[in-house]
Amino acid sequence: MNTKLDLNAIRNDFPILSQKVHGKPLVYFDNAATTQKPQQVINALVDYYKGYNANVHRGVHHLSQVATEAYEDVRKKMASFLNAADSSELIFTRGTTESINMVAFSFGEAFVNEGDEIIVSTIEHHSNIVPWQMLCQRKKAILKVIPVFDNGVLDFEAYTKLITNRTKLVAVAHISNALGTINPIAEMIKVAHEKGVAILIDGAQGLPHGKVDVQALDCYFYCFSGHKMYGPLGIGGLYGRKSLLDQMPPYQGGGEMIKEVSFKGTTFNELPYKFEAGTPSIADAIGLGVAIDYLDNIGWDAIEAQEHALLQYATEQMIKEGGITIIGTAPHKASLISFLVDGIHPFDAGTILDQLGIAIRTGHHCAQPLMDRFGIPGTMRASFSFYNTTEEIDQLIAGIRRVKQMFL
Ligand code: PMP
Repeated sequence: MNTKLDLNAIRNDFPILSQKVHGKPLVYFDNAATTQKPQQVINALVDYYKGYNANVHRGVHHLSQVATEAYEDVRKKMASFLNAADSSELIFTRGTTESINMVAFSFGEAFVNEGDEIIVSTIEHHSNIVPWQMLCQRKKAILKVIPVFDNGVLDFEAYTKLITNRTKLVAVAHISNALGTINPIAEMIKVAHEKGVAILIDGAQGLPHGKVDVQALDCYFYCFSGHKMYGPLGIGGLYGRKSLLDQMPPYQGGGEMIKEVSFKGTTFNELPYKFEAGTPSIADAIGLGVAIDYLDNIGWDAIEAQEHALLQYATEQMIKEGGITIIGTAPHKASLISFLVDGIHPFDAGTILDQLGIAIRTGHHCAQPLMDRFGIPGTMRASFSFYNTTEEIDQLIAGIRRVKQMFL
């Protein structure tokens, strides 16, 4: 097993990384917001528009057939990447947000009634809170929230107790974008299913860091965004268990999702097209397929080893530096650190770091209820990819030292 990466070669694949920002070499630590794209993915987009741009499915002409084949090949690739039982269980969407909204609407229509309960957790991204609030409002259902311990770990016992015979669905992140906590999704799915409850996993931060096997997990819904896994913006997906999707009504109406339309009524297409109204992001899907190949080629063991090493190194260096409070210290964490420089507003610190060419994120990270739980307005967040280096982390620590000199 080769777990050592050729970082020079890898960094050369990402043209954006070699630029300077404010005259300083770019240090890109905002990978949880979006990852950079390798040249191979960029080439795939250019090749598509130069060579075979055409609408899919409806055309008998050559270009349409080539585009359709390439698009459908990615569905098969993505389904096999997730080890889905069938590629029709893989629905393309614009990303995690659209996938969650689709389930909230469609599952809600099919299964949620007045007085029923939906469970989310305190550490969710707004994308995995607001659609459920909207559903609860629409159906007069009740939203319940799993509490979180001070270290950023969900209270598992409280979770099991929240599930009642009125619970219809649990929606929980695989990995928290604000704290890095890796939730025990296998155990959470098991508990939900033992009580006959469906569960959706928000995998926006999950898939970029490791492979997921939806059959081994016995997962019903898994949502993801291509742009967070080195693919293009505007493409993502929903894995859904066929037996459930078949019972759920379409989310949007339009072309592609129909079998027959007349003014007497319309019949709907089969999976996955029932949930893919309108022209899809064809080029972006093809780019996502290339991103998957790229990651597979590097090797997931090597990716995980490098990201783990970066997390460990950055955590050690921050502790050694002192005057830094790390928010979220779960024993199982993905490669991101939320932190505060003691006595300095995150926005001020982030602005200075930007001047030094260091891109981190500051703010509430679309997790305001979580920030409220910790009694803070926001944090600074450095999120690492396998293409980052320990030298870049040294630059971040030096930047933080500079911030302290300026403000303290
Ligand atoms: N959930 C989590 C945990 C996220 O980190 C994000 C993106 N920050 C989302 C959902 C939403 O993803 P997108 O904006 O790509 O739809």
